[in-house]
Amino acid sequence: MNPISKLGLANGLLETGLHQAGRRLTPQRRRVLDLFERIGSGIHLSAEEVHHKLLDSNQRVSLATVYRTLRILVEMGFLHELELTDGGHRFELASNDHPDHHHLVCISCGRTEEFESESVLKAGQLAAENIGFKLIESTLNVRALCPACQNP
Ligand SMILES: [Zn+2]
Ligand SMILES: [Zn+2]
Repeated sequence: MNPISKLGLANGLLETGLHQAGRRLTPQRRRVLDLFERIGSGIHLSAEEVHHKLLDSNQRVSLATVYRTLRILVEMGFLHELELTDGGHRFELASNDHPDHHHLVCISCGRTEEFESESVLKAGQLAAENIGFKLIESTLNVRALCPACQNP
């Protein structure tokens, strides 16, 4: 599937409502999605953190299954994946009321904060237009050191 039709699919799913589309999910996928819906948008979890939270609520599931489930939920458009520069990944709820945003990531402890920037969106738009590309998404991941990690 090309990126454009994939995006269309994701938006369509969000528009019909997560709960409606969610009925097509297997119980396993539903449980993982429920977890993200409970904690709300703007929270970024690693696969390990998702795994721990499931175990905490007495749900026996392997880390490998959590990885696979997260990947599928990203493909279905329910979650967004945030790729960190150290090769790590974090996941957050895809949500219409939580639109284009950017991330500041502490390279030491992984603390992730969000920010919005009109100029990043515009820069992506301009760069794409200049060479005839159609913009899909313009996001920025910034590597940084959080206050706690600056003074260990
Ligand atoms: Zn985010
Ligand atoms: Zn830190």
